[in-house]
This record gives sequence, C-alpha cells and structure tokens, in this order.
Amino acid sequence: MSYKELIKKTAIEQSRLLKNKEVSSVELVNAHFERIEEVDEKLGSFNSLTKEAALKTAQEVDAKIKNGEQLPVLAGVPLALKDNMNMVGSYTTASSKILANFVYPYDATVTAKLKENLVPIVGKANMDEFAMGSSNENSATKLVRNPWDLNKVPGGSSGGSAAAVAACEVPVSLGSDTGGSIRLPASFCGIVGVKPTYGRVSRYGLIAFASSLDQIGPFSRCVEDSALVLEAISGYDSKDSTSLNIEVPKYSDLMKKDIKGLKVGVITELLADGVSPDVKKAMESAIQKYKDLGAEIVEVSLPLLKYSIAVYYIIATAEASSNLARFDGVKYGHRAKDAKNLIDMYCQTRAEGFGDEVKRRIMLGTYALSSGYYDAYYKKAQQVRRLIKNDFDKVFTQADVIVCPTCPYTAFEIGSKVQDPLSMYLTDIGTITANLGGIPGMSIPCGFDSTGMPIGLELLAPALKEDVMLQAAYNFEQATDYHKKIASI
Ligand code: GLN
Repeated sequence: MSYKELIKKTAIEQSRLLKNKEVSSVELVNAHFERIEEVDEKLGSFNSLTKEAALKTAQEVDAKIKNGEQLPVLAGVPLALKDNMNMVGSYTTASSKILANFVYPYDATVTAKLKENLVPIVGKANMDEFAMGSSNENSATKLVRNPWDLNKVPGGSSGGSAAAVAACEVPVSLGSDTGGSIRLPASFCGIVGVKPTYGRVSRYGLIAFASSLDQIGPFSRCVEDSALVLEAISGYDSKDSTSLNIEVPKYSDLMKKDIKGLKVGVITELLADGVSPDVKKAMESAIQKYKDLGAEIVEVSLPLLKYSIAVYYIIATAEASSNLARFDGVKYGHRAKDAKNLIDMYCQTRAEGFGDEVKRRIMLGTYALSSGYYDAYYKKAQQVRRLIKNDFDKVFTQADVIVCPTCPYTAFEIGSKVQDPLSMYLTDIGTITANLGGIPGMSIPCGFDSTGMPIGLELLAPALKEDVMLQAAYNFEQATDYHKKIASI
C-alpha cells in the first residue's frame, strides 16, 4: 500500500492492517513522517518531532507481532501530543518563549499510558501559548494553518493537534480543553474532538492553565478512534488529586448501541441570533437526522448561558495568574540576562518570556484575585458557576444528551480577530459552559458552509456519561458522510 493510502486510514483501520501483517508499525510511522515532511512547512502543526522514540516503539511492536503476542488495540499506531504534555526526552514548550527548549524530567500520565499501550509518539503539536486562545494565533513559535484553507485559522488552542489529524499527519492526537480548545479546533478542521468529564483523564504532567477547567482528550477522523484513545488514557491516577476513581467503561463497544428513544435536547439559546445561516442549516439537518434515527427531540434552555463567557474569563484568568507564577526564571526555562537583582530578574524574565495574550490574562486574573476585588469578581464568578451547573442538572432530567453548534461560525481568516480580544473570546460561547459544569462534550463533523469549510456539531452529556455521548455521535456518524471527506492539502 502506498504511503498516501496508508495515511488516510483511521487508527482502527491502521491497527487492523498491523494485526493482519499487511503493514508493519515501522512502515506506518515512516509513512506519517513522510507526510509531515511533505506538508508541515505549510501547516505548522508541529513544534518538534520525536522520530527516534517513535521508531523505537514501532520496532518493539513489530517484534511483538512477529512473536505472536497479544497487543493493545492502538499498539503501533502513531499519535501526536499537544506541546503542553510532558514526555521525557522531548521539549515541552507550551508554544512559549519562556519554555523554549525546556525538557521536563518526567512523563505526563497520559504519555505513560500511551507508552504502556505501545503507541509511537511522533511529536509535539503547536498550540496557543499556554493554551490561551481560540485561533492558534497566540503561539510564540509559528502560525498553524487550517488544512481546508491555508488562509484560515485551525481554531485554538489545540490547533496543531487538530490540523495534524485533519491533514493526515497522524490518525490521532491529544489536545487539552479548558474552555473549548479541543472541540473548537475539531469543528474548524472537520474532525472529531472529545473533552471528557473533569477528572476522567489525569492532568499530571499537563502544563496547567486553569486547573479547575483543564481536561485532556483525543482528536481523530472517526468517533471510534476517539473512543479507543479515551479508553487508553482515562482512569484513576493518585498523582492528580482531582482524578476520579471510577472504572473506565468500554466506550468503543457501548457506543455501538442504537439510539431509538434517546432524548436529544436542543439548546434554544444557541440557535438564536449570531449563528451563521450555514451553521443554522447544518444544525437543522442534524436534528432531523436524529429524528430519523429514532431519537426524541426536546427543546431545553440554559438561561444562564449568557454569563458563561464572563464567568469563564474571571475564573480561568485567576487560576492562570496563580499557575503561571512559577515561571519566573528560577526553575524553568528562560532566564533574563543582566538583571540587577532578584526582583529585576523575575520581571525581565516574565516580560521577555510571555506573549501579549498571556500577559493580559495574568493581569486580569491578578486583578480578579486582589483584595478588595476578590468578592466582587472571583467569588461571584464561582457562585454563578454553581448556578450554571444547576442549570445543566435540570436540563439533564429532560434530555440524555444535548446538541448545539460547536461554534456559531466556521473557521475565520488569519488575522481577522487578533485586534479584538472580546470578539475572539465570544468564539467559545458554545463550548465554555461544559468546562464550567465539568461535563463531557465533543464535536463531530456535520456539514460544510458555502465556501467548503467544515461545520461542527457539539454534543454534551451528564458527568461520566461519555458512553451515551459517544453513542449519539457514533450513530450520527454512521448515518452521514461528512467525516469521510478529507482536507485536500
Ligand atoms: N479559547 C479559550 C481561552 O482562550 C479556551 C482555551 C482552552 O480551552 N485552552 O481561554
């Protein structure tokens, strides 16, 4: 099989080829490096590659297959990590100058789990600096471009992880989602992206942005692949105090049940003004598809949704200002030269090392936490967050899953929103509430706009009901063709 054919296969298809000995893992890994070589100069998906380590794992897999050993389903199938997840022997930069060339001395738990599953890790994907952004234009390393149109953004902050999967540089990758950073780029790049329940996947070894909102999850070109990756990376971890000690279901089996009688809620507020006509049309046909599949459609309302962006940008920036305090030139990465004294060294290091958006967030967050303002901003935001969670609890007595547009519009032109942070923040209106509520959410392809850019359908489910969410996604995918179209870069 030619490398062009191999790279288009999904992870589960690649796994079958391996087990049937139609291809070796070394061939698979090399095919994807060939693809990266071919397109990544244009795309900018990767900050660094880990070819040697990937090939070593691939050789190990090939030897085991030769010996007739039973292997995990993803063994030998290449994957990319977002550049905020640690892996011994690779740079972890969070696309920031302050961590340029920084190597953490330990593996993130997700990395360790992938290694146990013998997954060859091919490199670290570009992202918005410290995962702050919706378009990937805040990376200090380079731009990431959308594989469907190189003049458009891939979405952020996990833009590199999404573009890499959409452009067949890897079949699967990991991203992190604090307010939509998996689901939004999945939607802009026409692929599947899953943000699990808070606590489902360990955050140990993930560079923290906003600890009460951050979750790691998969990207893929079909629902089944995301389910398989989720099974591999989920589970209890004593190194993360927010990790849930609850068994990991076999998502890839459970999702194959039909959805007759499933109650699908439609959030009325997210189909109102501001949604582009193409996205609206795609939503209407998605809802019709669910009816055809035997689901029951119910209208649901999240009245507090209108506060979610404000609440998020107080909580996320407050937590970020605290989490990023550690990057001061003492233990990590960049240190300013020629500082006059210790305080001067802190100031200069941070002034040189952080980009504008990160500085803006640190200032906002420090302000929200400062004495005299804490009660008015941070405490109030936490109280409203609780009310939003209550809204979800109520909605999920009426519906098993809810659907809405992942984003009110499709990928926009590079540079078109950078001067207007508020308009950029509004991009996350459909995704942020799931993080505030701690519930799982995912985006799947559900159509194309008039210019051919992909549209994403978001699915949300109650905490720990990833199985039901994936079931609704899988059934929709099996009944449609949107996921079969691959970006033509
Ligand atoms: N776009 C949001 C932000 O900039 C979400 C980022 C994320 O999920 N990491 O904060």
